[in-house]
Amino acid sequence: QAKSAGPGSILFYEAQMQAQVASRARLQHSLREALQQQSFRLHYQPQVDSAGQVVGVEALVRWFSQEQGFISPAEFIPLAEKTGLILPLGRWILHTACTQLATWATQPGRGHIAMAVNVSAGQFQQDDFVQQVQEVLQETGAPAPLLKLELTESAMVEQIDAVVQRMQALRSLGVRFSIDDFGTGFSSLAYLKRLPLDQLKIDQGFVRDCLEDRNDASIAQTVIALGHGLGLEVIAEGVETPGHQAALQGWGCRFFQGYGISRPLPIEALEVFLSQPAAATTAPLPPG
Ligand code: C2E
Ligand code: MG
Ligand code: MG
Ligand code: MG
Repeated sequence: QAKSAGPGSILFYEAQMQAQVASRARLQHSLREALQQQSFRLHYQPQVDSAGQVVGVEALVRWFSQEQGFISPAEFIPLAEKTGLILPLGRWILHTACTQLATWATQPGRGHIAMAVNVSAGQFQQDDFVQQVQEVLQETGAPAPLLKLELTESAMVEQIDAVVQRMQALRSLGVRFSIDDFGTGFSSLAYLKRLPLDQLKIDQGFVRDCLEDRNDASIAQTVIALGHGLGLEVIAEGVETPGHQAALQGWGCRFFQGYGISRPLPIEALEVFLSQPAAATTAPLPPG
């Protein structure tokens, strides 16, 4: 309480605010520099089916800053979104991921691997986003049907007609769509049926405690049923244990991503992971 803490606390609070603003300004400055100096990397997290076969990967951007070391995307992506830097950064991410996708397309045993790329709301809402994706596909030669754009519900809340139109334009290029963090936003079911989607991604927040918490279990089950009912693939993220995977699989989920399968990996480590035989990670299905 400010009152009982005395006037000194207000000064302290102000100093804290100033420090915060200064550190954000520093971060923003180095974000701009990092973009120029190309100090971002992509890591790739495997996505597997029930047999442990890798069906795809999710590209996750990494920033190893010279001054500050590793900075989490949870920290710098929101800042990049606020400052508009997400636009050039997002384009670099898309280009880099598609370059990798194109490489796999020419390699034996790699041609089926899909690439999921996160797209921020502001990025998706650019007037020329469709054109950008088309250019990147042409420049890199990546097969469009193996590119899966992950959108969050926040990208879809406004002007649903425009969203549907944009998605359909991308879809006619062959591109696919997943809704990330599904269930944490406010998209309505009426919207959901109009969107040309391919996949729902169960948010890791529902997966984490799905073995202990009946509400989380029930939400996960409902998302699986909803997705399949709409003819969509359903993937669970945040799968940390064999127990998670067994439960989700028992509820009908067929695709999995999480630390329990693999952490996001730099490309060299991912290649090693891909060369190993599929792990028999799953418990037997319960009867029925
Ligand atoms: P997201 O797209 O929902 O990605 C999943 C996040 O969960 C990743 O965090 C991933 O490393 C982490 N994760 C994966 N498996 C597990 C698990 O089993 N347990 C737990 N606790 N976490 C797991 P990361 O890489 O720190 O990214 C955080 C968020 O930052 C992403 O959430 C996404 O919203 C954003 N982001 C990351 N890369 C990009 C990007 O290239 N573009 C855009 N626009 N956003 C990105
Ligand atoms: Mg994602
Ligand atoms: Mg997610
Ligand atoms: Mg997220």
